[in-house]
Amino acid sequence: MQTSVIGFPRVGALRELKFASEKYFRKEITTEELKDTAKSLRSTHWLKQKEAGIDYISSNDFSYYDIMLDTAVIFGIVPKRYKKLGLSELDTYFAMARGYQGAMGDVKALAMKKWFNTNYHYIVPEIGDETEIKLTGTKPFDEYTEAKEAGFDTKPVIIGPFTFLKLARFTGEKKISDLKDAVLKAYCEMLDKFNRLKAEWIQIEEPYLVCDLTSEDIALFTGLYKELLTSKGNLKILLQTYFGDIRDCYEEITRLDFDGIGLDLIEGKENLSLIAKHGFPKGKILFAGVVNGKNIWKNNYGESLEMIGRLKQAADEVIISTSCSLLLSPFTTDGETGISDEILRHFAFAVEKLNELKELAVLGDALDYQGESLFKANTDEFEGKRAFEDKAVQDAVSRLNESDFTRRPVRAERASIQKEALKLPILPTTTIGSFPQTAGVKRNRSEFKKGIIDEETYNKNIFSYIEDCINKQQELDLDVLVHGEFERNDMVEFFGECLEGFVFTQNAWVQSYGTRCVKPPIIFGDVSRKGPMTVKYIKYAQSLTEKPVKGMLTGPVTILNWSFPREDISRREIAMQIALALKDEVLELEAEGIKVIQIDEAALREKLPLRKADRYSDYLDWAIPAFRLCHSSVKPETQIHTHMCYSEFGDIIKDIDNMDADVISFEASRSSMAILDDLQKAGFETQAGPGVYDIHSPRVPGTEEIKELIKKIIQKIDPKQVWVNPDCGLKTRGWEETYESLSHLTEAAKEMRGVL
Ligand code: GLN
Ligand code: ZN
Repeated sequence: MQTSVIGFPRVGALRELKFASEKYFRKEITTEELKDTAKSLRSTHWLKQKEAGIDYISSNDFSYYDIMLDTAVIFGIVPKRYKKLGLSELDTYFAMARGYQGAMGDVKALAMKKWFNTNYHYIVPEIGDETEIKLTGTKPFDEYTEAKEAGFDTKPVIIGPFTFLKLARFTGEKKISDLKDAVLKAYCEMLDKFNRLKAEWIQIEEPYLVCDLTSEDIALFTGLYKELLTSKGNLKILLQTYFGDIRDCYEEITRLDFDGIGLDLIEGKENLSLIAKHGFPKGKILFAGVVNGKNIWKNNYGESLEMIGRLKQAADEVIISTSCSLLLSPFTTDGETGISDEILRHFAFAVEKLNELKELAVLGDALDYQGESLFKANTDEFEGKRAFEDKAVQDAVSRLNESDFTRRPVRAERASIQKEALKLPILPTTTIGSFPQTAGVKRNRSEFKKGIIDEETYNKNIFSYIEDCINKQQELDLDVLVHGEFERNDMVEFFGECLEGFVFTQNAWVQSYGTRCVKPPIIFGDVSRKGPMTVKYIKYAQSLTEKPVKGMLTGPVTILNWSFPREDISRREIAMQIALALKDEVLELEAEGIKVIQIDEAALREKLPLRKADRYSDYLDWAIPAFRLCHSSVKPETQIHTHMCYSEFGDIIKDIDNMDADVISFEASRSSMAILDDLQKAGFETQAGPGVYDIHSPRVPGTEEIKELIKKIIQKIDPKQVWVNPDCGLKTRGWEETYESLSHLTEAAKEMRGVL
């Protein structure tokens, strides 16, 4: 059996590309130096795969920033405002990715969006009426040739025309149907060029096929490929899908002239039954994604080989593949010295997954794989229970019933009780939680971690930051204050460290976008609360002021979504365990006199299943209850807030309302308040604070501008339901711009109160 890798992480084992790019942005290294780093990473990564014995290695999976952006540039889709800057090719590319502000002009970056159901973000290509689409870039050919010259036979990869068109943004009158032909022509030229380069295979990626498709979508897809495949010449074409199954178009796909079809057998729940039901086309190769490309756990060979056995009966040839690009997995477990072998032996990151592919291929060829020592070694890992079991937590979860998820009295009744208790003005003002993480704040934390300062000094410093933050908020005359989150590195890592059941790596970084990487904690055992997590900080903050200070917690769904979850129990079970731990913290905060508590669910929207049919059963049916569990037992007068980073929840508004929070804040200013109509239509009951200050930019919004936004809001939502706040936390901002922006925010709210 042979093996294939869809794509490999590109940032490097030690995030070399990130650091080199950042140096380049600061003009500390030259273009050539950056390109050299990139080149050496590419060859290191090809070599790793070759050494592991991978048969189908990808090229053009590398990117300086993002593959969608690369694809746009290859086809000449560069909006005029970037070309006009007159920068070098590479700098124009970075201007599209990150914006440009300097001697040559001032332009914002292209929009960035979440890549399907992952925490990776892609740059949204922008196609206007004047855009001329044609093959102008050479990156895929250059990288293919570079690999070949270095002794690596690769299959070049490219995002397919269907996904590309579906994800692009059309800024003018023209629609997909108007651009289809030009796009097709450019892709045909690309195939032609690869033919001339004598490439054997090309991997065309169409992840959009795993979303719900309309009949027009399917017609578009088949139309594109009927045409495209006529120009394949001697090339073999692998249609690669991932992140789900292709239930809407399986038969159409099997009828097209592809040479290989790549299916995700991990997340693609129905792919196996589609094959069983319709068969797999004769003479074609099935690239079977059985090694999970986006988790960190070892592959269970028993399960995989059984699957492979079934696939081999259906298809003439099966090649063992990752389920998606390994981009979404950390680099290697090598060097994770802080984790005991007992735990580490369960992990497989990108490099280790290569080895798994190879071992599966060897076992797949064996007459009796169950007798092989490779197989036995693997099954041993899955035998017996894991560490960190907590019977008490398991029992508590199994005892949960309806009343644990129901807060009394109903929201409207609570609202009037809270109004009495909190004595807030109309259009109350607040912030989302964090305040600037200054160099001093970061130094305090790193010196404590390194043991340079002791815990007492560390906390004393935190308390002084809190005091300063409370004073500033009082001066600004905000209504509901926060402590500022100076004890947190990250909103999930902090809680992970306070809770039982989490494991932390040194280097398990995963690219989130561009040069930004995240290092999600790993949930390894049953989760429970060791003791108070935030109480001393919030209590101290509250002791400094008469105004209410919000307790500030990260919600169960967000902690789960931004961690690597264990896979031996369900996500529901994990979410409930976390929720129970948070519930104790909520109740302790309340007992200590905290009257307002915010439970952030920044990442709730992000893991919503791609297909509508899976939304409830797979997710919302436990995610919303998990949130409710955290706050269902508080007193009626305690006000529960939540926060979400996106306002793209138009289609799950009822579910958001069902979280039964008293107040929600969310991003809205950048999306020009598009959500307001949806809220109005849905009769949204939760009090709402659509962000009126975009914290993602250092720009200071003026008072008038904020007033205009508030006016827009109160046209659509009853002013009694409206809060005034920024989009998100302020940790990435500087104090100066933050103070000025917030002073405009409170001023605008006061003037609007006067009007009301
Ligand atoms: N409370 C967090 C903060 O203010 C929320 C962050 C987020 O939504 N990403 O930083
Ligand atoms: Zn946010």
